[in-house]
Amino acid sequence: MLRNSILILAAAGALAAQPYDLVLKGGHVIDPKNGLSAVRDVAVTGGKIARVAANIPAAQAKRVADVAGLYVTPGLIDLHVHVFPRPGLGGVQRDSSVQPDAFSFRSGVTTMVDAGTTGLKTFPMFHEQVIKRSQTRILAMLNIVAAGMGTGLEDDPAQLDANAAAAMAKAHKGTIVGFKSAHYAGPGWESVEKAVAAGKMADMPVMIDFGYLNKVRNINTLLLDKLRPGDIYTHCYSGHREEVVNGKVNPALVAGRKRGIIFDVGHGAGSFYWYVALPAFQQGFPPDSISTDLHSGSMNAGMKDMANVMAKILNLGSSLDQVIAMSTWNPARQIKRLDLGHLDVGAEADIAVLRVDKGKFGFIDSAGAGNAGTQNIVAELTLRAGKVVWDLNARAAENWKSFPYKKEAWAK
Ligand SMILES: [Zn+2]
Repeated sequence: MLRNSILILAAAGALAAQPYDLVLKGGHVIDPKNGLSAVRDVAVTGGKIARVAANIPAAQAKRVADVAGLYVTPGLIDLHVHVFPRPGLGGVQRDSSVQPDAFSFRSGVTTMVDAGTTGLKTFPMFHEQVIKRSQTRILAMLNIVAAGMGTGLEDDPAQLDANAAAAMAKAHKGTIVGFKSAHYAGPGWESVEKAVAAGKMADMPVMIDFGYLNKVRNINTLLLDKLRPGDIYTHCYSGHREEVVNGKVNPALVAGRKRGIIFDVGHGAGSFYWYVALPAFQQGFPPDSISTDLHSGSMNAGMKDMANVMAKILNLGSSLDQVIAMSTWNPARQIKRLDLGHLDVGAEADIAVLRVDKGKFGFIDSAGAGNAGTQNIVAELTLRAGKVVWDLNARAAENWKSFPYKKEAWAK
């Protein structure tokens, strides 16, 4: 009896001495929401952020990862991806979506926002087959086209049902975080207006891929009249819709930003060009958020991954603190998910640990053109809800000499 009590007390003492599952030690923490950019330790317990402080004793942690010399940031939010692989599609339907978990964590990304791959007819399947089955947190901008993107139906007015789209978004509030209008080549403003109408009904932003211009549809009217403050203009450095004309940023973009329109990178396979991005930066027009437009076409070409796009923005002249804000707290606010994109105590422990290398690097745009850079970003370690989901250099791993291998499982 006495012996049992002593054992219980000893066990309780050990628990109290090691309240943290994992401590990331000695890294430079960048947490834009909390205005923090300094060397701090970060403790994680039960999948949540437990403490951010100058010196958390290693003895208080079951495991310590030495991240000195690295940057510890909230898990990255990629605001524009395509992650609904649809097997067996035929006809005009193209399928360049990728499996989310295969590309997220290795780039520091813990939340992906699918930008309109599905509409109200296809979202339920996306929800069942991808969103519920992914370790990556998957959110969605619902395409205002009911059938979704790349279906050959994107110009069909019969596909645009704002009421039904808003109802579906409300039924999945928090997972559906907005509406997407994309690739539209119809006569007027049908696609944009229906997306905005759905956005008003559901109290959510719309993301615009401005599609094809004509005499009626111009960027000035879009940014100054059709969109609401808080709506998102993606592909901002594409140049396809007169974002930059003869090396000058279109005044419509500056005026749009003044009234609260958000500008997102959405790099993709055809939407990021040096001859657009360089003058935009020189004229003081950085993006509000960084996103990849991840799909099998972009990731195998110039875009590569989230870290690559962030490094491009860093080399274009934004500070590292700004680049992290553009990839964490800014997109979280844009989609009204204020629980994400920061390291508040009690928040789900989604964390990226990044290495910034200095040297000679090269970066490729959507045309295949190169540009030199002096800094590169590499994801070293990624935590999703406190669990290590990516560890490039065994920083959180126990050494093999003391690792508790479970050999008996094979000896049966
Ligand atoms: Zn896209």
